[in-house]
Amino acid sequence: MAGRKSKGRKGGGGRPSGKGGKTRVGFRKNRENRVRPQNLTRQLDDAPEAEDLTPDERVGRSEQTRERTIVTDEDGLLAVDESVCEEGRVLQAIGSTRCTVRGADGRDRLCTVRRMLRRIERNTRNAVVAGDRVLYRDIESDGRAERQGVIERIEPRRSELVRLSGHRAHLIAANIDQAVIVGSAADPALKPPLIDRFVCAAERGGIEPIVCINKADLGDPGELMQVTGRYAQIGYRTLLVSATEGHGIDALRDVLDGRDTVFAGQSGVGKSSLLNRLQPGLGLKTSEVSADSGKGKHTTRTASLLPLHTSGFPGGGWVVDTPGVRQMDLWGLEIDDVARLFREFVPIATQCRFTDCTHMHEDDCAIQRAVLLGQISDQRYDSYLRIREGELEKPEAWDA
Ligand code: GDP
Ligand code: ZN
Repeated sequence: MAGRKSKGRKGGGGRPSGKGGKTRVGFRKNRENRVRPQNLTRQLDDAPEAEDLTPDERVGRSEQTRERTIVTDEDGLLAVDESVCEEGRVLQAIGSTRCTVRGADGRDRLCTVRRMLRRIERNTRNAVVAGDRVLYRDIESDGRAERQGVIERIEPRRSELVRLSGHRAHLIAANIDQAVIVGSAADPALKPPLIDRFVCAAERGGIEPIVCINKADLGDPGELMQVTGRYAQIGYRTLLVSATEGHGIDALRDVLDGRDTVFAGQSGVGKSSLLNRLQPGLGLKTSEVSADSGKGKHTTRTASLLPLHTSGFPGGGWVVDTPGVRQMDLWGLEIDDVARLFREFVPIATQCRFTDCTHMHEDDCAIQRAVLLGQISDQRYDSYLRIREGELEKPEAWDA
């Protein structure tokens, strides 16, 4: 299925606009002025430069900018020489131009991103992200321990974890199957509107939401099953678990096996505890300190994929580790998108009198009618209103 030449895939990296054929991409002109490699880092940054041009890419004659004609196939994918490339998976992005890639041989290498790709991906802050499937080429290494490579192409992404910063998308991770959205029965109290916000965010990213209520040992089983029942009725998978007691952990393990999962939810609900229970060390919170040129040091957090490798996971799979996603004030939601992200609203909303119905105050609104009739739960509708009214935008408000 993940074949290199499969047709009709949508979206994704390494993909210039236009339907195949040729695309003009501008390049800055100052490539002649680069200093010679001084150390490993410089060398890696420069590595793709020399390798950048394939015979298909012709340098234009413009004085101000350099332009190249990029040849793409009918899917709009960059034409690369696949015979010298291997398929790999990005485990972690380092800065905006380097990353670690797990190759087909099961080994990891430090890769740079071909300059061409950085230009094509110019609408996003980072060209490659954890989870990307890529075609890479190994670089002849001089025997140093670390393997090195160049990413030649980023395959179309089938799902994305995205944060909107301003009008730009900040990709956090790609090709993630599912989000386990964790709430806790108590301490902190269960907040269905917050769970619904995460559910919407996952829906928006094309990631399957799974509703998981932890600390079941602290709650009333009947009440908790009412909550999970509401989501099950909509068609979501649900789990009632306790990290400390071990209740429901086997079911959670089954959900994770062979899939790529991100854990999301408010701080303190027990995400790290659950992950550590599933596989010791999995609940580590990563944070990387990096130098920001001229501005001193600051902490950046970059997502990484952690492998599920213990005996409970015969199918393998990965967990996305990023504290930023876990405490997610991420994934800006566009106000007019919200109703589409409430899965059970969608078929009913087609019967509203107005096509642009907000389902808040209009006459002849099928959603409001369905709430009165009990076909849509009061709680879900309440969440819808709260998200629309922007109540859940600020993490401080979550505990109010
Ligand atoms: P995170 O911020 O979501 O990663 O939450 P943590 O895993 O750090 O857990 C926060 C607190 O909740 C810790 O003190 C845990 O011991 C506690 N905790 C986690 N899971 C459970 C559970 O199932 N039951 C109870 N009673 N406490 C839990
Ligand atoms: Zn309506």
